[in-house]
Amino acid sequence: MTTEHDDAGGDDAPATRSPEPDGGQDEEAHVIVVGAGPAGSAAAAHLARAGLDVLLLEKSGFPREKVCGDGLTPRAVHQLVRLGIDVNAPGWMRNKGMRWVCDGHQVELDWPTLGSLPDFGLTRSRHDFDDLLAAHARAAGARLRTHVKVTAPLSDRSGRIVGVAATRGPDKQPVTYRAPLVVAADGASARIAVALGLARDAGRPVAAAARRYYRSETRTHDPYLELWADLRCPHTGLDLPGYGWVFPLGDGRVNVGLGALPQRRSRPVDLRAAMDHWVTRLPAGWGVREENAQSPLRSAPLPMGMNRRPQYRRGLLLVGDSAGMVSPWSGEGIGQAMEAAEVAAETIALALARPDGARREHALHQYPAEIHRRWGRYYRLGNLASDLVFSRYGFRAVLRPRVMASPVLLRTLARLLTDVSAEPRRDSIDAVLHTLLRLVPTPRP
Ligand SMILES: Cc1cc2nc3c(=O)[nH]c(=O)nc-3n(C[C@H](O)[C@H](O)[C@H](O)COP(=O)(O)OP(=O)(O)OC[C@H]3O[C@@H](n4cnc5c(N)ncnc54)[C@H](O)[C@@H]3O)c2cc1C
Repeated sequence: MTTEHDDAGGDDAPATRSPEPDGGQDEEAHVIVVGAGPAGSAAAAHLARAGLDVLLLEKSGFPREKVCGDGLTPRAVHQLVRLGIDVNAPGWMRNKGMRWVCDGHQVELDWPTLGSLPDFGLTRSRHDFDDLLAAHARAAGARLRTHVKVTAPLSDRSGRIVGVAATRGPDKQPVTYRAPLVVAADGASARIAVALGLARDAGRPVAAAARRYYRSETRTHDPYLELWADLRCPHTGLDLPGYGWVFPLGDGRVNVGLGALPQRRSRPVDLRAAMDHWVTRLPAGWGVREENAQSPLRSAPLPMGMNRRPQYRRGLLLVGDSAGMVSPWSGEGIGQAMEAAEVAAETIALALARPDGARREHALHQYPAEIHRRWGRYYRLGNLASDLVFSRYGFRAVLRPRVMASPVLLRTLARLLTDVSAEPRRDSIDAVLHTLLRLVPTPRP
């Protein structure tokens, strides 16, 4: 088995559509969004719906692959609904909860019925998902420009971003795009943020994850997202500081993969060896075997724990993986990217309604403030849990037999991991989670 590494958001599959016909030269807009992954397409759709002129620049063409587990928990589904995506249309595979497997035990946990969030999750291959989201942004009025690779930010004398330089098409034609505000949604590479001096917090580990598609008629309609907590690193014999997943896609395939923090915060895990070792443990009847593989094993980084800050500086807003928004609890990043995108879009719309100057700038600083209000404590606690528990002992340390036997503990843990709780609180688990988070000291914005 080979592992192909994808370190910049995975989009190197050959494009099947040609560039949009109407974008041959330099252009201007109210807002430029760099990257049409979940963060960028969601931001562009919300901005366009707010009546703004938006340019959405994407280096690849659609449809294209993105290395991902393809799993969406209720909070992410909520964002799709808020965007106006029809989640009842064909192509979506629903799940009703998670199945955790650990040391020979397994438990099924249904998503809670909270009222404020959907009570189901979804899966869809990123090949389709990102295409659909980009088309949605375009239908909302965003000007999508594919095969445009942004190479550098353009700044004025004060250091404020005023646009981006890019190359366009196979002949790499130089082109510039200008706007008073730029949303960096360019994924883990975070090229724009880096160019503007927004460095990653080196103290935060970057996890890695790998996935592979298999044909599996027996598992493709599984109503649960299956997660394995007792994986081992075959070379060291240590518990994997992460977990494995088998996610049903409903189209005859399953997405099988694993994600791991660096072992003891430094040594990267050999994902291929861990995967090879693990899949032999899966029941033969599932068909998760070499002869049914539909893709190579591919891996990519998981920038997590809000590892790049501030999320706003001098006209640039960071959204999604570019800001390291992957959850340190679960390794999910799609829902977080879309939710932050909505916050960014609303902030921009309110800011652009003010005259250029200090008052507008003040409004733009609301973006990191709101991200901090929503997630500051949750991520701080998650970072602590990932440093002290997950990176040292993996998930197995948490899913001990006593926990696996306790429905209340399991439900609480599941909702903590997936950030599924109601505000205002609806049940005793909400009360526990809210109290727990209130005990966490407020981190630095
Ligand atoms: C193996 C694996 C499994 C995962 N599983 C899950 C899961 O099941 N559920 C979940 O919620 N999350 C999962 N994640 C995390 C999730 O994939 C990311 O958090 C999510 O894709 C972040 O979205 P984004 O829009 O910020 O970045 P991306 O999805 O990376 O999108 C960035 C976009 O920007 C474009 N781009 C990059 N540079 C440029 C440039 N210079 N110019 C123009 N365009 C550019 C890229 O082509 C890409 O389209 C997984 C990650 C990995 C690696």
